[in-house]
Amino acid sequence: MTDPRGYLICNTCGVQYADTDPSKRTSCPVCDDPRQWVPVSGQSWTTLRQLQESGRYRNEFTPLDNDRLATKDCKLISIHTQPNFAISQRALLCVSPKGNILWDCITYIDDETIRRIKDEYGGVSAIVISHPHYYSTCLHWAEALQCPVYIAAEDEQWLMRRGESIRFWNESRLSFCDGEFVCIKAGGHFPGSSVMYWPRTSKLLVADTMHVVPSGVYHENRPQGTTSFTFMWSYPNMIPLPPDEIFNIWKAIKELDFEDAHGGFPGRDAYGRSRARVLESAKIIISAMGYKDHAVHAEVA
Ligand SMILES: [Zn+2]
Ligand SMILES: [Zn+2]
Repeated sequence: MTDPRGYLICNTCGVQYADTDPSKRTSCPVCDDPRQWVPVSGQSWTTLRQLQESGRYRNEFTPLDNDRLATKDCKLISIHTQPNFAISQRALLCVSPKGNILWDCITYIDDETIRRIKDEYGGVSAIVISHPHYYSTCLHWAEALQCPVYIAAEDEQWLMRRGESIRFWNESRLSFCDGEFVCIKAGGHFPGSSVMYWPRTSKLLVADTMHVVPSGVYHENRPQGTTSFTFMWSYPNMIPLPPDEIFNIWKAIKELDFEDAHGGFPGRDAYGRSRARVLESAKIIISAMGYKDHAVHAEVA
């Protein structure tokens, strides 16, 4: 049997395929999709073995600290590969008294990463991935952490490597760790694009369903019209979602009580009033598109 560490990984999106021969794999469907892109130099491949043996990479664990975590006996740890690889998203390790989950996934994995998650934080009950851009090497992670990986059934076609640990879910929401975490499909970026609600800490993990934009990180006394979030079909190519899809994202999360929102990249954290700021941002963006009488404007946070 082939060692999966020899399977091809797309250098641009970091998604792993169940193939070993680069001459037979000329394209990456994830990067060919109009939401993604292919570099000028063309499609290229690596493997997990090459990444590990290069000695270049390591995963940094960065705790995101604020009062809402400390007083609730919880931890939120950003796991991010340095130097950056592929899309360079982060995974978020959510540690709670009722159990842990890994929200989203990254391509680079090594023994030290697994040791830290198991020994320092007690492992995880599940890996839950927001959408196809972050499928990465999720089967390696699941096997190393001995847990299932949850993937929205709507996006099944984008999962390039399958295995026994994969769980496709059809529901509109799914809870983990006895209700500690609730994953909610909000759609838009992908049909199954999801967010993770963590009620105990008043946090929403938003991935690419919406991005925390630079003006959302520092948002004290900003002038009217300043956004905190954006909602795109393609982030790298800047193709927006239509107003009704943005409105659907708001409707999917409007009943949730959250203060903080954490995006898919390091530093993209919005602290305080995030639920209201999602609606403010949706209104600003839908107005800018020319829809000043859209139903979103009747919503109140
Ligand atoms: Zn790719
Ligand atoms: Zn994405």
